[in-house]
Amino acid sequence: MTRIIFLGAPGAGKGTQAQTLAEHWKIPHISTGDILRSAIKEQTALGVKAKSFVDSGQLVPSELVQDMVEERLQKADTSSGWILDGFPRTVDQATFLDNLLKKMNLGGALVINLDVPDDVVVGRLLERGRKDDTEEVIRRRLEIYRSETTPLIDYYGERKQLVVINGNQSAEEVTSNLKDLTVSC
Ligand code: AMP
Repeated sequence: MTRIIFLGAPGAGKGTQAQTLAEHWKIPHISTGDILRSAIKEQTALGVKAKSFVDSGQLVPSELVQDMVEERLQKADTSSGWILDGFPRTVDQATFLDNLLKKMNLGGALVINLDVPDDVVVGRLLERGRKDDTEEVIRRRLEIYRSETTPLIDYYGERKQLVVINGNQSAEEVTSNLKDLTVSC
């Protein structure tokens, strides 16, 4: 079974790499941002609650995202594993995920930190042009990433689950580094 968690700032290339690897390994790419954006588009109860947070670059309340992840990880297509992209984003979410995996009798995941300097991610996000990619919202997302999500680097480092990959290379080079890594683990 392959269970991978992608960490990395917004714009680090998590989504692209997670999608490529998921196709390669034939396991689902589970992006909490994608699930939230489609819930917002379809105006589901979750989407209506999440919209203002996503639009302004703030974290959606953890209970909502945690319920969503718990439900998603129980679907049949996860039997060979999964790649999580965008979750966990806080230490509380990581603790929730640890407990959930225990409850499901699954071991921990391999955590990949895609490391990219700040000035590079801002440039990439401005080029991407998603609705929540305005300069002000980007700045807020980066601040929240620094304060809420970077503590996960220590959290998973202490648990010996963490691998750091240089994300400041071409997408092809990053993919090749990731494939080497997953083959050897
Ligand atoms: P992303 O596509 O991962 O950049 O996520 C886009 C937005 O979805 C974020 O700015 C948050 O508003 C929300 N979001 C995604 N994942 C989470 C999460 N794990 N916890 C809270 N909010 C999240």
